Amino acid sequence: MPDPNGFLRYDRRLPARRPVPVRISDWREVYPPAGEELIREQATRCMDCGIPFCHDGCPLGNRIPDWNDLVRTGNWDAAVDSLHATNNFPEFTGRLCPAPCEAACVLGLGGQQPVTIKQVEVEIADAAVARDGLRPRPASVSTGRSVAVVGSGPAGLAAAQQLARAGHTVTVYERDDAIGGLLRYGIPDFKLEKQHIDKRLAQLTAEGVRFRTGVEVGVDVTAEQVRAEHDAVLLACGALQGRDTPETPGRALRGVHQAMAHLVAANRVVAAAGDGKPAPATLPDGTPIDAAGKHVVIIGGGDTAADCLGVAHRQGAAGVHQLDLYPEPPAERDAARDPWPTWPWVLRNYPAHEEGGERVFAVAVQEFVDDGTGQVRAVRIAEVTVEKVDGRRIVTALPGSEREIPADLVLLAIGFEGTEEQPLLAQFGVTRNGRGAIDSRPDWQATDGVFVAGDMHRGASLIVWAIAEGRAAAAAIHTYLGGVGDLPAPVDPARQPLAAR
Ligand SMILES: Cc1cc2nc3c(=O)[nH]c(=O)nc-3n(C[C@H](O)[C@H](O)[C@H](O)COP(=O)(O)OP(=O)(O)OC[C@H]3O[C@@H](n4cnc5c(N)ncnc54)[C@H](O)[C@@H]3O)c2cc1C
Ligand code: SF4
Repeated sequence: MPDPNGFLRYDRRLPARRPVPVRISDWREVYPPAGEELIREQATRCMDCGIPFCHDGCPLGNRIPDWNDLVRTGNWDAAVDSLHATNNFPEFTGRLCPAPCEAACVLGLGGQQPVTIKQVEVEIADAAVARDGLRPRPASVSTGRSVAVVGSGPAGLAAAQQLARAGHTVTVYERDDAIGGLLRYGIPDFKLEKQHIDKRLAQLTAEGVRFRTGVEVGVDVTAEQVRAEHDAVLLACGALQGRDTPETPGRALRGVHQAMAHLVAANRVVAAAGDGKPAPATLPDGTPIDAAGKHVVIIGGGDTAADCLGVAHRQGAAGVHQLDLYPEPPAERDAARDPWPTWPWVLRNYPAHEEGGERVFAVAVQEFVDDGTGQVRAVRIAEVTVEKVDGRRIVTALPGSEREIPADLVLLAIGFEGTEEQPLLAQFGVTRNGRGAIDSRPDWQATDGVFVAGDMHRGASLIVWAIAEGRAAAAAIHTYLGGVGDLPAPVDPARQPLAAR
């Protein structure tokens, strides 16, 4: 029986973030561990309401009130088991999830602050590592069936673990030199230190999952070869086609890059440096893409833009502007527009915003300005209004509002246009839909024996959705291969986030 008055006795509290001057001088995670006392107090705020809407907010269906109460009563082993029953990688979601569960917490109905669900989750996840170092759970019997997973992001890894534990032989193909998808070289260490991926990979390896890095399916091995070697294939190649702005004058200038080029280059030098100071970041062809001493302009308002901001400060940028097309969102939920328990449009302040930089809302770049040598020296922006007409976005510049912002490095973080066009698609006989994603049937098959999950299926989304889709696709593959019993399938391919009807 949970504490029915916990939320009346305790306010919502998170651990203090490391001080800004300290944390921007290294690449370690922003949040220190919360400590047992704080986390038990916060778990006590969960009242185990009769209909826990947080379950519906979480695509994985995490059993949030159950593990909150187990933490409150100090029953950590059972909390670890309860969390792992629905989530393969709570150390990733606990650190990185935007927590739609918290937006759906019933405390929000009465005007209270939600339970710190995500923080409790990460503490349980870390307790699992501290207790038994993520004990492997290999299958006791092999089914003799084999599955290829293409792509090693959270969707591919979740599916691989589910299938290996069900007794199938699983090989993960990854074109990069390291496993993890966007977790590895997209998301910076100050949000997710890579040791967390490595610990989980050791567990998957001990459970029998085979990893083949540096292998691009469709190029280094053909789809035909993969199909001949395996009984089923899961495509989990992500949605990595970055949106660009080729029509903006000056786009071809030196110093104007896709945000992902900047993040991947920075993450690679951090990985190579170990605990030492990273070298300046460069592109694979040697082009410098480091922010040190530069005026940086980041275009975009989401996760990717915030990650570029944090990286720019750690690299020693002279100044950073972050530009957003849309007006500044409200600080609080607008109940008429986004009623509880849906995900509200509110101003999201990431820890990176606390570290410096200036956010400029309701502006659009009119031109990247040349310094006369082919290098960008400024962006010319105008204030704009944005409206939707017949589903199309119309951006109108306000006459006379143009001005220049100095820029030596410009990073485009304006979203993704679905999965990349690449040889693998035609070889497997699948095509991108209007959103650049790959459609599936209700049983997750894109075509016979070829399944699809994660961002490649859903479009650029979140880690929690990638894990949920990976688990559900694994369940479908298990059934397709004639496996005994059912694996858990938290979502179906048509599932959408909670929305007002
Ligand atoms: C900068 C950035 C920050 C983000 N921050 C957050 C966050 O804080 N919280 C959150 O919830 N979400 C965040 N996201 C979104 C999240 O990372 C993705 O939704 C998630 O990683 C998708 O997982 P996935 O497994 O579908 O694909 P991915 O993680 O994209 O992995 C796909 C993998 O497939 C590989 N691949 C592609 N083609 C082939 C091929 N032919 N052969 C072999 N391998 C191939 C790729 O190299 C890649 O490793 C962020 C995204 C970005 C870009
Ligand atoms: S995975 Fe995300 S939505 Fe689910 S419980 Fe954790 S923080 Fe909440």
